[in-house]
Amino acid sequence: MTSKHLRRLVDRYRIDRGKGFRLRDHDPADIGDGLIDHAESEALLADGVRRLAALQELLYPQDQWAVLCVFQAMDAAGKDGTIKHVMSGINPQGVEVTSFKQPGPEELAHDFLWRINRRLPQRGQIGVFNRSHYEDVLVVRVHPDLLARQHLPPALDGRKIWKHRLEDIAAFERYLSRQGFVVLKFFLHLSRAEQKRRFLARLDTPDKNWKFSAADIAERAHWDDYMNAYQDAIAATAAPHAPWFVVPADHKWFARLVVVEALVAALEDLGLKPPEMPADARARLEEARHRLEAEDG
Ligand code: AMP
Ligand code: MG
Repeated sequence: MTSKHLRRLVDRYRIDRGKGFRLRDHDPADIGDGLIDHAESEALLADGVRRLAALQELLYPQDQWAVLCVFQAMDAAGKDGTIKHVMSGINPQGVEVTSFKQPGPEELAHDFLWRINRRLPQRGQIGVFNRSHYEDVLVVRVHPDLLARQHLPPALDGRKIWKHRLEDIAAFERYLSRQGFVVLKFFLHLSRAEQKRRFLARLDTPDKNWKFSAADIAERAHWDDYMNAYQDAIAATAAPHAPWFVVPADHKWFARLVVVEALVAALEDLGLKPPEMPADARARLEEARHRLEAEDG
């Protein structure tokens, strides 16, 4: 297995048009074409992380493109671990991770994209969203009482609200792409059976107990509603300028490889070059060299 192989796999999981998208066509336990195994995945991941770090070194000084990586998933799908591993080689000055939790009073007093806008990466930076604006068409859709807290004028809170929100998200992401954002969205696609195994492991292992919350079981009971909401969200917002990656997540090592390769591919597509020195700037560097060399001591 080489990174070329991996690249072809990434294309398989990339969804850039919503038409006909069905979640059930995607197997959470997929590990590609069987050409890769767990044992070699560590070296491949390290190689991907190295390539990503090198690309980030080119992204930072060009100060034009910004990269936004959105991570969405059910509980225990491995968002945190994936973010930790994939971003581990990157200069911390060039990346910012934001975890979006239940909105507080100030956030609820604004439109749902308000808090998202405030955390967008600046040019040259990689922004990572651990949960995102999509929560407002996922958890809020599954739990209508959350919607009731959003201070929407009743006249606007109609039956078309989800369709409208999805249109607004699609338009927002199109706007971002036209502003020089590379928008990449990752759905870590976990099976219900694997979630059960991971929850049990969290209960069985004292070191992992902190990761378990009673609310997780309550959310699990809404599994089908979540899957429907995810399917609608992906179908309504997948676009060439803001693709989704439906990443099989039952095998953590595989999910991480897919994510790192997708990021590398997107950054390579930008054709980043080290910044070029204009002739006058180079002349100033020479002048600085002369002055330094002429100093005593
Ligand atoms: P965790 O990611 O496990 O730390 O949990 C964060 C929780 O915040 C999850 O249960 C999310 O569903 C919830 N959350 C995030 N964004 C929103 C939102 N806009 N409205 C309601 N709940 C949210
Ligand atoms: Mg949680």
